[in-house]
Amino acid sequence: MIVILDPEVDVNSDAGKQVLNFLNSREGITPRVHTVAGTQQTLTEIYLVGNTASLNQSEIENMTGVERVVRVSKSYAVLGRHANDSRSYGFDYNGVRFDQDSLQVFAGLCAVDTPENVDHMMKAVSQRGLSCTRMGAYKPRTSPYSFQGLEANCLPWVFESAGKHGIKVVAMEITHDSHVDEILETLEQTGHPTGVMLQIGTRNTQNFELLKVVGRQTQLPVLIKRGFGITLEESLNAAEYMASEGNRNIIFCLRGMKTNMGDPHRNFVDFSHVPVVKRLTLMPVCIDPSHSVGTRAGCPEGILDVFHATSQGIIAGANMVLVDFHPEPTKALVDGPQALLMSELDHFLEDIEISRQAYLQRKALKQKYTD
Ligand code: PEP
Ligand code: MN
Repeated sequence: MIVILDPEVDVNSDAGKQVLNFLNSREGITPRVHTVAGTQQTLTEIYLVGNTASLNQSEIENMTGVERVVRVSKSYAVLGRHANDSRSYGFDYNGVRFDQDSLQVFAGLCAVDTPENVDHMMKAVSQRGLSCTRMGAYKPRTSPYSFQGLEANCLPWVFESAGKHGIKVVAMEITHDSHVDEILETLEQTGHPTGVMLQIGTRNTQNFELLKVVGRQTQLPVLIKRGFGITLEESLNAAEYMASEGNRNIIFCLRGMKTNMGDPHRNFVDFSHVPVVKRLTLMPVCIDPSHSVGTRAGCPEGILDVFHATSQGIIAGANMVLVDFHPEPTKALVDGPQALLMSELDHFLEDIEISRQAYLQRKALKQKYTD
């Protein structure tokens, strides 16, 4: 059960304290307070864990300072979209909006290699009016003998280059809790030239201890990838692990599933699940066409499969695209074969715009037939 306080009421006000004391006095009930900072107002939500069936919903709803009470109908209490739950949820991070209506493109390097390539990439996206990119510093590799990423060493020059080109958010995968500290320390030391969205990769989707650490910090938002060999419900529960610890600024990323039936793609593209995740949860949904398709193969009409898959996700309402580019893919240290070329960036962005407009038209069409 979620008790939502009136917008102007916080838990330290008289009304807020009264509600919290009342909930604390119920046997077998543990209240957890979450503050949701929106663009217009800050909302306080109290999540009740335990035997909530024993609670009288209208008694709580009638208390001063309570706006409404939502019965939790899903196992993901914080992130789930519950029955009669019309809440919308989103967040601004470093001036960039993330919610189920917006669209942000994160084109960048799968793995950071040289300062020249990082700068080239940052400059290219910024010249196209984009304010986000992806940069892998910590790379979880299948083979222990493969390049593992430049790790903390590259963070200062990556962040400085981002700042120089006005990049506001860099998506960066982490594989260990110490990486969160390294990123926060480097941001501090370099004077916060940019922001970082932590990325939990598909191999760590169920690394619960890592999820808890990332969920306990609220300075950086998190992108969590769907686990490539587990159910969607299990992956959504993984996101809930973080939210239950306090960080709700979470984006859920579809990146394909591991199955031979996906051949000849690297993974079975699952972007038809964009609307499913938006229906089940409040999270913005990202698609990663690079890691799901995994090749530069194209169709006889000349359009690459990566472009086609991107279009499929966007026309279904995706809110973020995470995509690999590289100035010289043949020299990339990780995932070169799937990287798009810098000369394809304009084409890719224009193609996205066509699909985005089509999605918005489809939404308007639905409205027309609903009125
Ligand atoms: C990545 O985005 O660089 C990555 C390793 O992706 P995934 O976790 O989806 O394999
Ligand atoms: Mn990769």
